[in-house]
Amino acid sequence: MLSPSATEKLRASVRGRCFWPGEQGYDEARKIHNAMIDRRPAIIVQCAGVADVIAAVKFAREHDVAASVRGTGHNVSGTSLCEEGLTIDLSALKGIHVNPRTPTARVEAGVTWAEVNQELQVFGLAAPGGYVGTTGVGGLTLGGGLGWMVRKHGCALDNLLSADVVTADGQILTASSTENADLFWGLRGGGGNFGIVTSFEFQVHPAGTVLAGLVLHPASKGRELLRFWREYEKTAPEEMSNGAILFNAPPELPLPEVLRGGPIASVGGVWVGPLEVGEKALRPLREFGPPAADIYQPMPYSAAQSMADFLWPKGLYNYWKSNYLKSLSDGAIDTMLEFYAKAPSWRTVVVVEHDGDGAFSRVTADATAFGDRSWPYNIVVTTQWTDAGESEANIRWTREFWQAMQPFLADAAYVNYLGDIDEESARTAYGQKYERLAALKAKYDPTNFFRMNQNIKPSQATATTSA
Ligand SMILES: Cc1cc2nc3c(=O)[nH]c(=O)nc-3n(C[C@H](O)[C@H](O)[C@H](O)COP(=O)(O)OP(=O)(O)OC[C@H]3O[C@@H](n4cnc5c(N)ncnc54)[C@H](O)[C@@H]3O)c2cc1C
Repeated sequence: MLSPSATEKLRASVRGRCFWPGEQGYDEARKIHNAMIDRRPAIIVQCAGVADVIAAVKFAREHDVAASVRGTGHNVSGTSLCEEGLTIDLSALKGIHVNPRTPTARVEAGVTWAEVNQELQVFGLAAPGGYVGTTGVGGLTLGGGLGWMVRKHGCALDNLLSADVVTADGQILTASSTENADLFWGLRGGGGNFGIVTSFEFQVHPAGTVLAGLVLHPASKGRELLRFWREYEKTAPEEMSNGAILFNAPPELPLPEVLRGGPIASVGGVWVGPLEVGEKALRPLREFGPPAADIYQPMPYSAAQSMADFLWPKGLYNYWKSNYLKSLSDGAIDTMLEFYAKAPSWRTVVVVEHDGDGAFSRVTADATAFGDRSWPYNIVVTTQWTDAGESEANIRWTREFWQAMQPFLADAAYVNYLGDIDEESARTAYGQKYERLAALKAKYDPTNFFRMNQNIKPSQATATTSA
């Protein structure tokens, strides 16, 4: 238990705000994306700068309390909040500085991808972040970062040039390919295991106006659409990053009647490159069927960054399953469509991303700590519902669906999409890299201070790992 005098001392020592149970603002400060997570930290420190982060780390160590690190609180497993311990909240760190000459951007840890790309758009630039705008830069980059430019420029961490890190002993280090290179290797994929990144420096890219949108078909045409898409992707240029999405239209979406009252099968994405070339490359997809609706159009990259946000509003109950697919086989397609038709909640969305066969796959396996780049397709079942009373039915459906998908799943998963946290999930995500990561953990965090995450346990023998 933390004494009131200790917590008051912490409050007096930081520039940011502190909240504890019973205080005004506490319940708001502990709300995260997934309503399933209802944890009550003993204290939440909303850091105003790096000095606050260091003070919070030192306080937690001195008082021997568990700590969690919160970026924007988007991770569905809820690791950003701890029960009874200290939550180090970075969401107020909102600095973004763009250097259009290099071109690079330095971004603080509480920024979302929508915010980064809004600033970059002014210069006709964009950063490879996620597929939605509301996700935090911090957790997404440290775990990987799959998004609309993944086939052209790789994932977010492939574009990371350097990071400022507060370590478990309260030191501040810079990690890059030339400074603390072993730490830099581990940060790029190892999640929050090695320290708290307070700012990220990214390589950014010309984007300007892109072609983005979706073609929509009733799910009764889903089998033909997904089989067609599988062939189409075999020659899709790297300027194009696409996914297939099964969803139900929210009432406010202006769509033709045939797409209302039942599931939709859609394929969509972003083309980053000359628009006339993109028009030509997208034509077969836009003509197939033909679709019941085609909402592809030119738009600024910053608008494309947020175009899918409406599918995942904040504050719903979430239960997710995800894995790479061995292939987009007929069996996988049929199983997805069969189960989606029985989903208990219309809010549930199933996504198949085509991340591979481009820049992402060309990065060599050992270059970063990122788990596995060899499987081009990734499935994410994002089960979402609105009432706590519906939890059992939705979780049961997700598990049955997942059981049926087992024959089609590779033995590898993307760490940031995992809804369950256990020793097995971290080993599945990191595969053969787990031991090297455990040795690095023993060097930078030997007491496992940063353990509210997909946790890598420090190896017993203190080892030094070089990049
Ligand atoms: C609706 C939705 C859409 C998503 N879309 C995508 C997508 O398109 N592409 C994709 O790759 N992922 C996506 N994700 C997954 C996303 O990458 C993870 O949830 C990620 O953890 C979110 O980052 P965050 O900073 O908000 O994490 P938080 O929930 O705040 O933190 C999660 C964990 O990350 C670590 N962490 C966060 N920030 C830092 C930091 N600065 N320093 C050290 N550790 C830190 C901590 O261990 C923390 O426990 C999506 C998630 C949701 C809910």
